[in-house]
Amino acid sequence: MKMHVKTPLIEKLNVADFSKREIMFKMECYQPSSSFKLRGIGLMCQEAVEAGATHLISSSGGNAGLSAAYAGRKLGTKVTVVIPKTTPDFIIKKLELENAKVIVHGDVWDEAHEYALSIAKDKNVKYIPPFDHPKLWEGHSTIIDEIKEQYTQPDAIILSVGGGGLLCGVIEGLIKNNWEGTQVIAVETEGTASLFKSIRKNKLITLDKIDSIAKSLGAKKVSLKAFEYAKKYNVKPYLVSDEAAINACVKFANDYRVLVEPACGVSLSLIYDNAEIIKSAKRVLVVVCGGAIINLDKLIEWKSRLDIN
Ligand SMILES: *Cc1c(COP(=O)(O)O)cnc(C)c1O
Repeated sequence: MKMHVKTPLIEKLNVADFSKREIMFKMECYQPSSSFKLRGIGLMCQEAVEAGATHLISSSGGNAGLSAAYAGRKLGTKVTVVIPKTTPDFIIKKLELENAKVIVHGDVWDEAHEYALSIAKDKNVKYIPPFDHPKLWEGHSTIIDEIKEQYTQPDAIILSVGGGGLLCGVIEGLIKNNWEGTQVIAVETEGTASLFKSIRKNKLITLDKIDSIAKSLGAKKVSLKAFEYAKKYNVKPYLVSDEAAINACVKFANDYRVLVEPACGVSLSLIYDNAEIIKSAKRVLVVVCGGAIINLDKLIEWKSRLDIN
């Protein structure tokens, strides 16, 4: 039994300005936990339970925690999610509705993460990390397996980067399916540019701080594997502003009646802003990574802030 669902791949309409091109959206926002994360986290939770784990621990106040909570409920296993104080109330509610035990600890993710590790020492307890684990990448790579059933090889794939779990999974999927010719464009915001700066400096760097509305991209450092894959695979890193991300979320909501986080909006913004970097690609595919940390009130509030400026 797999935890994730097969998501639709839909073609964007109204691409007049992109004549003779196909823009495809892989709708990972339709996973039950609202993001692609369920692919890797679902697989990891399932195998942990099969190996005897009776308690799963996650340290994310975001989509990783929600995916672990959902997978744990489906598997009938206890889940604890340790979250930093900054996590919004509506996420705590969502986690609790999935039967997860929520522990609020620390001001930032790193502190929640340390605490989660400290309580995950027992042999029946499995810590489920948010992005840095081969099992997660194996699960995420099924996105490409599905796209192969649904479509032909795209010239370019656009995806968002936080800690780089999605990036690792997509690259592994491309290699597995002999689709190495596909260009991968890895998008971050200016305030979460951990991959972009690492590639520019040719070494794995740690950001001093995260400064962006795209909270789900807020890893100060990408995983070593993400950095290595990005170099080996010649991934094109790309930065957009918070404003571009929000605008793309608004346009996508109007076009598809679907809410996605700014973390997903960053990738969509390349399409809506007709970015130079994809102009030569005939078939462009966007991983609509989704995210649950958004609601109508929030989107309206962010948009109104933009309208003032
Ligand atoms: C986790 C997440 C990302 C970033 O994924 P990484 O694997 O950390 O790079 C992007 N968008 C959404 C909605 C996410 O939940």
